[in-house]
Amino acid sequence: MSELHYQLDLLKAMNQKLTEKERMYHTVFESAVGAFLYYSFERNQVSTLGQWKEFFNFEISEPKQISKLLDAVDESFAVTLRDVLYLEKTGQEAATAECMLKNTKIWLLFHSKIYYGTNGQPVDKVIYISNITKIRSQNEELTYMAYYDSMTGLFSRNYFVRLLSEYVRKASEMNDVISVMMIDLDDFHKINDGQGMVVGDELIQQFGSYLKELCEIKDVTGCHLHTDVYLIAIYAPSGERTMEALYKEIQQRVREPFKLSNGQELQVTFSAGVAEYPEASQSAIELINCAEIMVFKSKAMGKNIIQYFNTPVLEEFLRTAELESKLKEAVFNHSFQMYYQPQYFADSKKLRGMEALIRWKDGDDHMISPAVFIPIAEKNGAIIPIGQWVVEQSIMQYALWRQRYGYPFIMSINISALQYSREDFVDSVIKVIRKYGVTPSEIELEITETILIEDFQAVYDKLKLLRDYGIRISLDDFGTGFSSLSYLKKLPIDTLKIDKSFIDTVLGDSATKVITEAIINMVKALGFESVAEGVEDEKQYEYLLSIGCDVIQGYLFGKPYSAEDVEKVLSSIL
Ligand code: C2E
Ligand code: CA
Ligand code: CA
Repeated sequence: MSELHYQLDLLKAMNQKLTEKERMYHTVFESAVGAFLYYSFERNQVSTLGQWKEFFNFEISEPKQISKLLDAVDESFAVTLRDVLYLEKTGQEAATAECMLKNTKIWLLFHSKIYYGTNGQPVDKVIYISNITKIRSQNEELTYMAYYDSMTGLFSRNYFVRLLSEYVRKASEMNDVISVMMIDLDDFHKINDGQGMVVGDELIQQFGSYLKELCEIKDVTGCHLHTDVYLIAIYAPSGERTMEALYKEIQQRVREPFKLSNGQELQVTFSAGVAEYPEASQSAIELINCAEIMVFKSKAMGKNIIQYFNTPVLEEFLRTAELESKLKEAVFNHSFQMYYQPQYFADSKKLRGMEALIRWKDGDDHMISPAVFIPIAEKNGAIIPIGQWVVEQSIMQYALWRQRYGYPFIMSINISALQYSREDFVDSVIKVIRKYGVTPSEIELEITETILIEDFQAVYDKLKLLRDYGIRISLDDFGTGFSSLSYLKKLPIDTLKIDKSFIDTVLGDSATKVITEAIINMVKALGFESVAEGVEDEKQYEYLLSIGCDVIQGYLFGKPYSAEDVEKVLSSIL
């Protein structure tokens, strides 16, 4: 009896446990985000759970109705879904299918799982259905972003490189040519800085969208590389599909302004560089690099042009790049040295001054000319520390000589336009003059007309500050820039240096003679001093003396000397 009671109690407890479990399952299913379909093979019964009603407007209460699901999805997915719904037929344990609901944009994920018994027969089947519309659209967006540039609709950089690599591979098999063009808008930073980023962005976008259309029409591949830079690749260019033709077409387009949404009209020009496979390079990235170097060349040649790849341009670029990195080291290591070239009064042949000229010894005996590295230093900004060093070195040297020999002369220091344009330039020079206690009127700064490209008033104000302090100003290379004699009247300067190119030809060319004499007369009338540079022979000297030139500088009287050799000159004077 007690045995029976015990059995009954056990049964009761088990039932209770079962209903609790059922309740638990029910709650879990109902709260789950998704719908479930449960099928028992043993009982041949089917039931639906969870958020079924939110997914489907039909119920499934008998096994044969499972096929209703096949009708619910877009028919292109029916075959795939059938394999998932009747998974037991394949002998697999689990499978999934992503399907779109018929006539909607809703994506459902069907996840089917079969539970097999110990005898290998299927016992239960559960199909879990969830809504993946959001995830899919995020994925699609990500995919889009990976392939396209969202601003212009052109290909993205990464995808373009992939395509180009693919082209290169194919071209190497087929012996075909690939042409790559880089396009860079001219003076874009002026638009961006002057009119704001919104205007800049819209221009980038409009130009890019235009390129995209053009690429589609011409069946070529275009990409927005970054900011205002774009790339176009043509596989096997011929006929109308050549860079030449494309370039002309884009040129034609930019003759018309771009109309911005704020009503403003913007006219742009662009510089282009072209490199081709296999001539320029065998790899996609290098082709792009070569095209970029050609763009640099276009810009250097005055913008708004196209430059086709050629080896000398590439070599020149590589040399400059190599020099540039060496130059950085040189600035860091202070591997510069100052040389000084004497200047003499034409009539008395007495020492008037010395021009400080920088020298760069690269390695043991190899000298790199300042005519080569100063322009590079001006481009990459290294001229600022170099120029500061030159000022300090020359003034310190002059103070030393002045003290040692007691012989006053003028130390002339070359100043680059970039250095001059620095706000602290005047202060920095005055500071060094004070530091070494030299007389300001014994220091002369040689400037060139290139500084005048900047705001005239600002240039003028600085010149005036320097001269008020007593420092002398000399206008260098006169006759090579946009020299206008009328400018001269307005400039607060002391000295004018007539460029070597005049001195070179003055004896043989009557026009140069007339100009040189006119310059010297003008200089006299304005009360400046004239210096002729690059005087190499006696005849030039005699002629210059006869037309009233004040000072002579050149190999005839003395080459640039090291500090050591200058001391020999100075000792010989005394
Ligand atoms: P520059 O200021 O016109 O300097 C005169 C150049 O003519 C110097 O060349 C000098 O050595 C050279 N020269 C002088 N007399 C004769 C001559 O009779 N015959 C010939 N054939 N040449 C003569 P260098 O030293 O090679 O300097 C070249 C240029 O580099 C300079 O032209 C100047 O623009 C720049 N430079 C040199 N040193 C400095 C510096 O410390 N700072 C800056 N910013 N520029 C410098
Ligand atoms: Ca000079
Ligand atoms: Ca000069």
